[in-house]
This record gives sequence, structure tokens and C-alpha cells, in this order.
Amino acid sequence: MATILDGKKLSLTIQDELAIKVSERLQKGKKKPHLAAILVGEDGASKTYVAAKVKACERVGYQSTLIKLPEITTEKELMLEIEKLNNNNSIDGFIVQLPLPSHIDEQKIIQLIDPKKDVDGFHPQNIGRMVLNLPTFLPATPNGILEFLKRYKIDTIGKECVIIGRSHIVGSPMSILMARNYYPGNSTVTLTHSRTQNLKEICLKADIIIVALGKPEFLTADMVKDGVVIIDVGITRVNDNSKKNGYRLVGDVKFDEVSKKASYITPVPGGVGPMTIASLLTNTLNATKLKKM
Ligand code: NAD
Repeated sequence: MATILDGKKLSLTIQDELAIKVSERLQKGKKKPHLAAILVGEDGASKTYVAAKVKACERVGYQSTLIKLPEITTEKELMLEIEKLNNNNSIDGFIVQLPLPSHIDEQKIIQLIDPKKDVDGFHPQNIGRMVLNLPTFLPATPNGILEFLKRYKIDTIGKECVIIGRSHIVGSPMSILMARNYYPGNSTVTLTHSRTQNLKEICLKADIIIVALGKPEFLTADMVKDGVVIIDVGITRVNDNSKKNGYRLVGDVKFDEVSKKASYITPVPGGVGPMTIASLLTNTLNATKLKKM
């Protein structure tokens, strides 16, 4: 039976470490780190994620500002909000919660964020710095996964690492980070996607599988070898009338059967999600040390 990688617990440990650093800052007369979030529209999952980020800010003693904009916000209006945050010296870092409504060009918006305030690590300049192994804000979810591997001392060197899904925010950056000449990293990485042939054969060779495709219970026990390390990024709301809110959260891994073969596995919920929040908070503290535009 696998060791469960407890993201909820580890995220709280990291948050406690950050809270100590915040009180040290305050003792030195410095201000609280300040994170802002822009939420456009009424997407239920996005609202939940942003609320969790604001709550975590309160827990570690950061200041937070939530800017809620209606679904009908134009691209131009959103761009003006971003300009305001870029120019607001009291804000150390900010995020624009994705996905944005379809009439807004996400890439255009991301490119407008001051890279020194881009605590989600999505700006092309920060992605470029990540590729070149220069100091930067690593994207929050991949960084949370690295932290998992590091704190549980999971061996990644020379291991076969298969990543399922090639999104800009998870799969692609994860493939770069796991291949770096660094720990956690130095893995032999295979990045797979919707056009990959023989995914099962590829997965059966993997020592580590990072699954981020958004298809509930996609990875099954017959696709993995004994002793594999499983990182499940997927979060899908599946209708469930037995729940008060009418749904439950399901990962991309068939947990009950895969956990019997794995050496380590992340649960959903309580795995990668809370680690993403811990990374965002870490990036925000780091952002206080940078001189902004
Ligand atoms: P996405 O939705 O942008 O893209 C999905 C990817 O899966 C694509 O690259 C596609 O090529 C690949 N794919 C689709 N079908 C496939 C198949 N049959 N075989 C192999 N690959 C296939 O990806 P995303 O934004 O990274 O989101 C993936 C999941 O992770 C979603 O459930 C999302 O909610 C979740 N997520 C969780 C966190 C977190 O903090 N836990 C953060 C980001 C995303």
C-alpha cells in the first residue's frame, strides 16, 4: 500500500514557516506581504480557488486584495485593472484567476503583468527564466509538486518520469523542471498528450507519473508498474447527490486501485491543490524582495 503524500498537512507546515518569516519582517519594521487576485465572472471552481488563496493569506499574516469583476468585463477594462496593480506600490504580487471568459485573450492579459509581480509564474519572461534555470517565480502547481518530492525525499535522479498533459500551467513546465540538472529533477522525461500513441506502454515503464489532463479516474492500475510514484493534479467536479453541494472532487487517477501498486500517491482532494497555494504564498514573499517596474 502506498504512502499518501499529504498535501493538506505539508501546505500548513509551509504556511507556518512563512508565518514566522512574516513576523520577523514585521519586527524589522517591514510591511506585510500583499497579494492581490483578480476574479472575472462567476465560475464556481474559480471562486472556490480564489477564496482558498485569500484564506491562506490571512492564515500566514499577508494582506490580500480580491478584485471581483463581472463576466461582461471587456478585455480593455481588465487590462486597465492590471495596469493599476502593476503601478500600485503597496501590492507585491498578483494573480489573474484562470480560465478567463472566452471573449478575453488570456495570453494578452498574462503578458501585461509586471514579471516581478507575476507570482503565478505565467509571464513569458518568467517561463524563459525557468527554462534557463535563472532565479524566477516557478509556476505554482509544478513548484508545489517539486516541494512534495523534496520534502518526502523521493528519488528522482535518473528515473523515468512520464507526464500526462501538456498545458502551459502544469504539464509543459513540469516536464522542463523534472529534466533540469537539479534535485528534484534529473529525470528522463516523457511528455505525453492527447495525440500520444501507446500511452499505456509508456506509463508501464515509468517510475514517476504526473497526471494533469482533467479526465476523472483516467489512469488505472493496469497502466502502472509496482512501486510507481503517482502525482495526481486533476480536479474534476463530478455530480454526486449524496453531497450537500451536489458534487465531489475527483482526480485523474483511479485512486483505490492505483494506490495498491504505488509507493507514493497524492490524494484528491488534499494533494496537489493545497501545495499550489503554498507555492503561491512562497512566491509572494519572494516578490517582496524585488524592485518593481
Ligand atoms: P488542460 O485542461 O489545459 O489540458 C489538458 C491536457 O491533457 C492537454 O495537454 C491534452 O493534450 C491532454 N490530454 C487530453 N486527453 C488526453 C489523453 N487521452 N491522453 C493524454 N493526454 C491527454 O490542462 P490543465 O490546465 O493542466 O488541467 C488539467 C487538470 O488539472 C484539470 O483537472 C485541472 O482542474 C487540474 N488542475 C489542478 C491544479 C491544482 O492545483 N491541483 C492546478 C491546475 C490544474
